[in-house]
Amino acid sequence: MLGMKRYGGRVPCPHCGEAAKTRSSRGISATYRETHLQCQNLECGWTGVASVIIERTIVQSANPNPRIALPITVTRRKAANAPTSTPANDIDVATAEAM
Ligand SMILES: [Zn+2]
Repeated sequence: MLGMKRYGGRVPCPHCGEAAKTRSSRGISATYRETHLQCQNLECGWTGVASVIIERTIVQSANPNPRIALPITVTRRKAANAPTSTPANDIDVATAEAM
């Protein structure tokens, strides 16, 4: 696994590891976007496409979209303090919509 180096909202270039900047993006759906990236290392020059997928919720929206049902993540801190916890992947869509 890669280290937790900060890229200031950018992602590491898959070839040289320097920051790759978002040049443009387009929404495919409410939870999926394609992003065009360009490496900022002039000696590399890689340009490519990445996908951004919204997978789960950490904090509920105050203005939820009823058509979006994302699993809820229980953070490690909350799980440690809660008397019982449910693994994030065990929540089905019906349960998530009821929350
Ligand atoms: Zn690069």
